[in-house]
Amino acid sequence: MSRTAQEFHELYGYPAEGVWAAPGRVNLIGEHTDYNDGFVLPFALPQRTEVAAARRTDGTIALHSDGAPSGVVTLTLAELGPGHPPQGPDGWAAYPAGVFWALRDAGLPVGGADLHIRSDVPAGAGLSSSAALEVATALALADLYELPLTRPELAAFARRAENAYVGVPCGAMDQMASACAIEGHALRLDTRSLEQRHIPFDCASAGLSLLVIDTRVKHALGDGAYARRLASCHQAAAALGVRALRDIPYGELEQALARLADPVGRRRVRHVVTENERVRRMEELLAAGRLRETGPLLTEGHLSLRDDYEVSCPELDLAVATADAAGAHGSRMTGGGFGGSALALVDADAQQAVADAVTEAFRRAGHTPPRITAAAPSAGAARLR
Ligand code: ADP
Ligand code: MG
Repeated sequence: MSRTAQEFHELYGYPAEGVWAAPGRVNLIGEHTDYNDGFVLPFALPQRTEVAAARRTDGTIALHSDGAPSGVVTLTLAELGPGHPPQGPDGWAAYPAGVFWALRDAGLPVGGADLHIRSDVPAGAGLSSSAALEVATALALADLYELPLTRPELAAFARRAENAYVGVPCGAMDQMASACAIEGHALRLDTRSLEQRHIPFDCASAGLSLLVIDTRVKHALGDGAYARRLASCHQAAAALGVRALRDIPYGELEQALARLADPVGRRRVRHVVTENERVRRMEELLAAGRLRETGPLLTEGHLSLRDDYEVSCPELDLAVATADAAGAHGSRMTGGGFGGSALALVDADAQQAVADAVTEAFRRAGHTPPRITAAAPSAGAARLR
C-alpha cells in the first residue's frame, strides 16, 4: 500500500478507493505569454501531489493535507460557492473545494468525498503546487464519479477552480501541463486554441541536465505587479487594434512599437512578442535534436523578463548570472517572477559544480540557501492504484 493510501486509512478509519497523482511543472520558455493568447512550453516535474480519496454519500467533503497544519477541513456540498471558500488557516482547502464546485457547477454528478493529500511539490516556489493539487483532485473525482472528461477538460475545470473559486487569475498553462504532459517531453501549448503538441525533450540522452533552483524567496510586490502587467498588455493590444499581443508577428514588432507612445508599454510588448518567437525557435531546436544549443534562448528570455518585463529580482538574477558563469548553457527565471525558481541547462557532469557555485554565491550575498534539484521532464497526472 502506498504511504498516501496508508495515511488515508489511519485518518478516516477505512481504506481509500484509489490514489491519484499530478505533478508540478516548470516552464522551459514562454513566460507571461499565456494571458496574451501566446505560446508556452512547460514540462512536468518528478515532484507530484498525491490524493487518496473515497466517495461519501452524505453530501460532505472532508479535506486533509500533510502539508497544512489545519487538520481535517469539513464542508458540505450545499455551502460550496465562490463566496464561501474556506477562510483563514483552512484557506488551502479552497483549491480542492474549488474543484468540487467547478465540476458541480457544470452540472456534473459529483457527490461528497474524503480526501487525504500528500505532496513533494514545494508550495509557492513557482512550480505550480496549486495546479498539482487541483488536477490530482479533478482526476480523482472524475474517476470516482465516472465523469467522461478528457485531460484538457479536466485541466479547464482545475483552472476554473483557481480563477473563480480561489480567485487567482492564472492562465491555462499550469493545469494543462500537470494534466497532459508526458514523460521525456515538453508540452507546447497554444493558449488561444489550446492546441497541444508533445515535443521530445530527452535531456539525459543528450548528456544534459536541468537544474531547478528554488530561490526560496517570494517578494510581496509580485501580486499587484501581475495584475498591472496583464492590464498593460491588454491596453497595448487595444491600442494596436489586435485581439491579443499574440497577434503581433515578430517580423512586425518594430512597426508596432513605433505606434505606442508609452515607453513602458513598448517594453512590455517587446517582451511578449520576442518571447513568443523564442518559443518558436526553441521548438525548432528541440525538433532538430539540437538540445545543447537551446541555452542562449533561455538566457535571452531571462534578460527580456528582467529588463523589458521587469519581473525578476536580485535572487533570480544572481542564480542566472552565477549558473551561466559556472558553465550552464543558459538559464532563466521561470514562473511569474519576483522570487520562485530559476532553471539552468547544464552538462550532466557539470551539475554539481553549477549547483555549488549558485549555493556559494547565495551564501556570500547573505540570501537564504537555495534548494537545487535536477528535474527530468516527467509524466502528467495518473491514477496510481
Ligand atoms: P505555486 O502554485 O507556485 O506553488 P501558489 O501560491 O499558486 O504557488 O499555490 C500555493 C498554495 O496552494 C499554498 O499556499 C496552499 O494554499 C496550496 N497548496 C498547494 N499544495 C498544497 C498541499 N500539498 N497541501 C495543502 N495546500 C497546498
Ligand atoms: Mg500556483
